[in-house]
Amino acid sequence: MRLGVLCCRAVVGAMVVLVFLPIRISEANWLTDAFKGSSKPGKAAAHVASLKRTGSAKHSASPKSHHVKLAALGAAHLSLSTLKAAPSKCDPKKFRVLLDVGHTAESEGATSSRNVPEFAFNLRLARQIDEKLKAEGFAETRLLVTEGKARPSLVKRVAVANDWSADLFLSIHHDSVPDKLLEDWEFEGKKSHHSDRFSGYSVFVSHDNPDFKTSFSFAEMVAREMKARGLQYARQYTLPIMGHYQHPLLDKEAGVYSYDDLVVLRKTRMPAVLLEAGSIINRDEELRMESPERRDLVGNAVVAAAKDFCGPQEPFLGPL
Ligand SMILES: [Zn+2]
Repeated sequence: MRLGVLCCRAVVGAMVVLVFLPIRISEANWLTDAFKGSSKPGKAAAHVASLKRTGSAKHSASPKSHHVKLAALGAAHLSLSTLKAAPSKCDPKKFRVLLDVGHTAESEGATSSRNVPEFAFNLRLARQIDEKLKAEGFAETRLLVTEGKARPSLVKRVAVANDWSADLFLSIHHDSVPDKLLEDWEFEGKKSHHSDRFSGYSVFVSHDNPDFKTSFSFAEMVAREMKARGLQYARQYTLPIMGHYQHPLLDKEAGVYSYDDLVVLRKTRMPAVLLEAGSIINRDEELRMESPERRDLVGNAVVAAAKDFCGPQEPFLGPL
């Protein structure tokens, strides 16, 4: 909480009510180990207790740091005339957001209940998010579409992100379920699979990212923006039925999970988050994910989160 600054300047963060809305991102975790680096059983759970570890200082403000105990400052000492302009944490015009389209045309990820490849969903949604971010002033946003097989494509994504020195990495995916949970049905005369049991968005971060703290902060902003728009997060990742696809739930209100071994989250040298925008193996949710309205909603949630992330610092009082 920047205690060193408080000696001469009082934080008046409560005068700027920063709203952290829910959003969620998820990765089709069970789909293939190709998304993982080395497997470290049990490591994720151990990391739950390490949330307070310090990340890098580039965007070191965690959501909680914005909530200031104004009463403790003493209202009698506050003077609007002493307020100073609050600098932004980053300049959207120069802020490099790398929007990663999950999977490739060659390795398409999950298959929806109506046999549409996940890659098509990811590409369409990521394009919309890209357009919205640019329209809202994030001019340096870049859409990353990768080619080739699954594992080499992960290395390429990380290389692009690190070579470009992106400020933020956001991978866009759509969710499914482990094969053992699939149920048969027929769609347009073709044997197909669904699972209507689970639905919702989810957001993933890795403790192995060099800036876990900031990654988690942005993940919470995305998740909260999603939640604020009436969406619910996928609860199943805490269930034993998910087996080794179980993941620790870091934010039980908004829906942020840790998934430490994901290559694109742990090898990128900037804050990195993965969003599973919704389930395409759930027959009802697939139809919703198909709709322009849902893409618009998710896009707006991501843009709002980016604005939160890049928004003004808490204003400070001058010397008291
Ligand atoms: Zn995926």
